[in-house]
Amino acid sequence: MENRKKYDVMIIGAGPGGIFSAWELRHLCPDLRIAVLEAGHELKKRKCPIDGEKIKTCIGCRVCSIMNGFGGAGAFSDGKYNITNDFGGTLYRYIGREKALELMHYVDRINTSHGGGGTHMYSTAGTELKKVCMQNKLTLLEASVRHLGTDINYVVLENLYEELLSSVDFFFDTKVESLAKNGEEYLASFEGGSILADTCIVSAGRSGSKWLEKVCSDLKIPTKSNRVDIGVRVEIPAVIFSHITDELYESKIVYRTEKFEDNVRTFCMNPRGIVVNENTNGIITVNGHSFEDEERKTENTNFALLVSKHFSEPFKDSNGYGESIARLSNMLGGGVIVQRFGDLERGRRSTRKRIEEGTVHPTLNATPGDLSLVLPKRILDGIIEMIYALDRIAPGTANDDTLLYGVEVKFYNMEVEVDRNLETLHKGLYMIGDGSGVTHSLSHASASGVYVARRIAEREA
Ligand SMILES: Cc1cc2nc3c(=O)[nH]c(=O)nc-3n(C[C@H](O)[C@H](O)[C@H](O)COP(=O)(O)OP(=O)(O)OC[C@H]3O[C@@H](n4cnc5c(N)ncnc54)[C@H](O)[C@@H]3O)c2cc1C
Repeated sequence: MENRKKYDVMIIGAGPGGIFSAWELRHLCPDLRIAVLEAGHELKKRKCPIDGEKIKTCIGCRVCSIMNGFGGAGAFSDGKYNITNDFGGTLYRYIGREKALELMHYVDRINTSHGGGGTHMYSTAGTELKKVCMQNKLTLLEASVRHLGTDINYVVLENLYEELLSSVDFFFDTKVESLAKNGEEYLASFEGGSILADTCIVSAGRSGSKWLEKVCSDLKIPTKSNRVDIGVRVEIPAVIFSHITDELYESKIVYRTEKFEDNVRTFCMNPRGIVVNENTNGIITVNGHSFEDEERKTENTNFALLVSKHFSEPFKDSNGYGESIARLSNMLGGGVIVQRFGDLERGRRSTRKRIEEGTVHPTLNATPGDLSLVLPKRILDGIIEMIYALDRIAPGTANDDTLLYGVEVKFYNMEVEVDRNLETLHKGLYMIGDGSGVTHSLSHASASGVYVARRIAEREA
């Protein structure tokens, strides 16, 4: 006989969205029976086998420990919680700008009271850099950013988990295969059992996007999808950007290219950090980390330069387009490709020797190659223009030895049609976090979790 359990609320996904839904619900409605179903492992069991020595590339684990498990895609992230409506998602469109900021601050208070207390909050308010950017055709986006760092972010997650354990039932290594309506209730089925609940919050993140597409199609929930961001990760000596990163830590700077009038933006800045591999559905792309711990800091700073591609009819598969470009780099380089800016400009591939002779020592062991064989011209031209624009506010950015790793792809989930409660057309079925397409960041995903928990609590009252 099948193992079926019944709960008041079930949450699918234990990333920031799921964690903060559970957190808030448990405080507001301590009597509710809450289940969290997570495809990945609990936090302490999450371990990627890539060690850079014995195992250099992805071996395609059944469940990827980087993207899945308690803490979601954010567990080993740099833990930058950006408090802003300027980027990181469009939550404000559903709940209003003021409310969105208020919830992001609330999340920050929970993080700082659970191990993140000694960390720094940076802000663009009153910075001179804004004017310097404007004078150089660049725009600095406004934000406050709490930088937890990969190490403290992990500690915060450990502490939240400890507290949640007493009142929430976690089901790890439990990939929900199907989600169906069962009268007024929701039925989540997985290998070896199922769970029935009156209310369901889906916070499946980017890694759950394919599964979520199927859920939306089965339940006839309208969706749309048309965006992907493609680019490279830039690595430079930390001193070149230190006047910016010391003041702001993470700055989001946008440049409008002269040639195509595309927007190129900086993304995920890691002062004195490292460049890392990222695995999305078996495709290796690049990302970056940094640490609060002085001993783990490096001599380099890295950040992504991304160009947004919006597609119009009839093309619908924007993520497929990004995946194909990333696959091409994997095909040529066996993983991530690295190239000196000087080599790119001279139209030649980088070699191990040229990189070793350079002044920037790579923090990721990537394959020297030629990014112009991978990235579409329009995107590459935009990136080169942006590097020269940044060179005007941070001289040295366009040096020959600057390293470019490719490709970095930021996939966007389809946007699920939800109302201002983040509820789908099915009463009691909420879709939040990155999986819903409403958010693309730790702070927005977490805030969306708190928000739905409060809506559910109001209904329960
Ligand atoms: C390397 C890296 C660094 C990052 N750094 C930052 C940063 O510094 N700042 C920032 O704002 N953002 C950062 N991000 C993005 C950030 O991690 C995400 O925006 C955030 O985690 C989204 O939260 P979420 O809860 O919506 O989804 P996720 O964190 O993706 O969590 C979703 C969870 O759902 C589970 N799941 C999916 N499908 C199913 C299913 N069918 N059944 C059961 N469980 C399922 C997954 O296993 C996963 O654990 C980073 C991302 C990565 C990968």
